[in-house]
Amino acid sequence: MEQGKDYMVRATAAGGQVRAFAISSRELVEQARIYHNTSPVMTAALGRLLSGAAMMGIMMKGEKDLLTLQIKGDGEAKGMTVTADSRGNVKGYPQVPDVMRPPNAKGKLDVGGAIGSGILSVMKDIGLKEPYVGQVALQTSEIAEDLTYYFAASEQVPSAVGLGVLMNRDNTVRQAGGFIIQLMPGAGEEIVASLEAAMAQMASVTDMLEQGDTPKMLLERMLGGLGLEVLEEIPARYRCDCSRERVSRAVASIGAKDLRELAESREPIEVACQFCDRRYVFAPEDLEELLERSQA
Ligand SMILES: [Zn+2]
Repeated sequence: MEQGKDYMVRATAAGGQVRAFAISSRELVEQARIYHNTSPVMTAALGRLLSGAAMMGIMMKGEKDLLTLQIKGDGEAKGMTVTADSRGNVKGYPQVPDVMRPPNAKGKLDVGGAIGSGILSVMKDIGLKEPYVGQVALQTSEIAEDLTYYFAASEQVPSAVGLGVLMNRDNTVRQAGGFIIQLMPGAGEEIVASLEAAMAQMASVTDMLEQGDTPKMLLERMLGGLGLEVLEEIPARYRCDCSRERVSRAVASIGAKDLRELAESREPIEVACQFCDRRYVFAPEDLEELLERSQA
């Protein structure tokens, strides 16, 4: 499918006391839906996490920096994993793609109910010896509130996060997007008050997207009175960089004993990439070669 319409904006307001990000992510969430054949509630869950991760990805500075968000819950969805780089590429997968649930009390897709209680882990590989890992308890399991809590509890950055995914009747993605607004150290009380007042007036992200809001317009609604300045537009896309080599390493990691058993069964095996469902076939000879390599 054609991708290329999704993008993010990076912005500041109040003379740098606020930094902000917003994304339009319909195409990439639809791509995820197609790859994983997700039910509506899981399309929303994964789509919100992908949209949040894409914005958190571009907060990182290094070309090769990688962010991983992992959710584990006690609900039917069990969990999701999403990774993003610092250049607008994002990918992810749900553990259980076909969870079905009745709408929640507000008549919306019940993402919180599908995930249940659990943990949000944030891993950042920014070229240090050990990756940074932050973990917080899920607050509502609706994703946006959980990221808000993560920023406050783990990074000590007061933030407002909004994420939304709206489905068409045929269960394709109609709208997807969101924003992250963060107060920088020393932001004044009047900035906080102005932001809180604007947020209290605001419609849901999906309503704003449905009205035709662009990422910049989303931010203008909240920061228009604070001298919003858009610094950069960055394309966003669902991109999987898997390769036969990378999948080979995953196959080899099962260990010599299991590898030998597979090779001796003389049947080819097919391995699907978790992120994009691309299929890789390994003939018995390939498995023998992996076995030799792993013992070298
Ligand atoms: Zn892949």
